[in-house]
Amino acid sequence: MSRLDFTLSAGPTVASAQTLAALGSPITYHYDPEFLDLFRATERKVAQLFETRNDIVLMQGEAIVALEGAARSLVREGMPVLNLVQGVFGKGMGYWLRDFGAELHEIEVPYNEAVAPERVAEYLDAHPEIELVAVVASETPSGTVSDVSRIGPICRERGVLTLVDTVSGVGSMEFRTDAWGLDICVAGAQKSLGGPPGVALVSVSAAAWDAIGRNERAPRASYLSLLDWKEKWLGGGAFPYTPSVSDMHGLAACLDQILDEGVDAAIARHVASAAVTRAGVRAMGLDLWPVSDDIAAACVTSVALPDGLDDVQVRKHVRDRYGVMLSSGQGAGNIIRIAHMGPTASGLFPIVGISALGRALMDMGWEVNVGAGVDAALAVLSEQRG
Ligand SMILES: *Cc1c(COP(=O)(O)O)cnc(C)c1O
Repeated sequence: MSRLDFTLSAGPTVASAQTLAALGSPITYHYDPEFLDLFRATERKVAQLFETRNDIVLMQGEAIVALEGAARSLVREGMPVLNLVQGVFGKGMGYWLRDFGAELHEIEVPYNEAVAPERVAEYLDAHPEIELVAVVASETPSGTVSDVSRIGPICRERGVLTLVDTVSGVGSMEFRTDAWGLDICVAGAQKSLGGPPGVALVSVSAAAWDAIGRNERAPRASYLSLLDWKEKWLGGGAFPYTPSVSDMHGLAACLDQILDEGVDAAIARHVASAAVTRAGVRAMGLDLWPVSDDIAAACVTSVALPDGLDDVQVRKHVRDRYGVMLSSGQGAGNIIRIAHMGPTASGLFPIVGISALGRALMDMGWEVNVGAGVDAALAVLSEQRG
C-alpha cells in the first residue's frame, strides 16, 4: 500500500499541529482543578460557536451517542414526530424515532435534493399534533445542507421542538441556535472543527429540558442520558462518568483555533474551498451530485460517479496510486466525496483532491479532462486570493 499523503475524507478529517499537540497533553485526574477549568471553558467556547445561551452538554463519545441520546430523551410513546429526510443520517434518525415509540411522519426527498422549508410549514399546519421536528442541517454523505435558518423559526412559531443534527455543519456553515430557535443541536469535533472523533457537542434549550423532564422514558442512569449530565454535572459539579480527558484537550484546542480565526472567517474558508472544488469537478467533465449549488455543502463535495464504476474501486485506486484518501457516499448514491473540511478547507487541498480523482478515473478508462479541471480550480483560487 502506498504512503498516505493527504486525508481528504469527510470526517474524521485532518487535525492541525496545535490540535495534535493538545491531544498529547498529560492525562490528569478528571477532578483536577485544571481539567475542571478546561471542561467548563470548553462548554463556554461551544456556546459561543453555537451562538446560544442554552445549556451545553459535552457528551463523551462520537456524535451518535448524543443523537441517539437526544432522540430517546425527547420521544414518548405515541408522540407525533416529523422527520425530514434528504440523506442517510436523516433516514437513520427515522428508524430510531420509530423504534423509540414515535408516531413517525416523514418528508423525504431524493438524496441529491433538500427538503424545502415551505413543505415543512405546510405539513405542520396540516398536522398540528406534531410536537417535534428532526432535521439534518448538513447531510454529509449527500454533500447537501438544509435551510435550518428557516425551518427553525417555522417550528418555533408553531410551538414545535427541533432536534438538529449539525454534526458536520457547525464551523462550515452559518449556525445560529438562538436566533433560529433551535432546541437540541448536536455537533461533532471530527468534522468541520478538525478535532478528534470521540466528543459530542450538544445544546439543549429550556423547552427541550422541560419536555425531557416530563418524559418517563428519557434515559436515566445511562450512557445515553442527557438528564444525568444536567442533574449531576450542570446541577451538581459531578461527572456522570469519567470524561475522555485527552479528547477534551483536543476539542479545546480546535475550538481555540476556530474562535481565534473567527467563525465567519472559517465559514468563508470552507465556502471558498467548496467553490474551487466544484469548478474543478465540472471542468473535468464530471457531474456534481446535488441538484443545485445552493444546497451543496461547504464542507464536502459529492461527485456523481459514471455508471459502471463504484466508489470502492475508485477510492482504492486513488489511495494506492496517489496516496489520497477520499470518502464514499455511505450509501447516499453512486458518489465519491472530496472533503474540504477543517484544515483541508484551504488553498491547494481541493486541487489535490480533484487531480487525484480525475487522474484515477482516466487510469480506469474514463474520459476526464484533468488539466481543464485543475486549471479551472486554480483560476477560482487565484481570483479568491487576488
Ligand atoms: C459524521 C456524522 C454523524 C456521526 O456519525 P458517524 O457515522 O459516527 O460518523 C452524524 N450525522 C452526520 C450528518 C454526520 O456527518
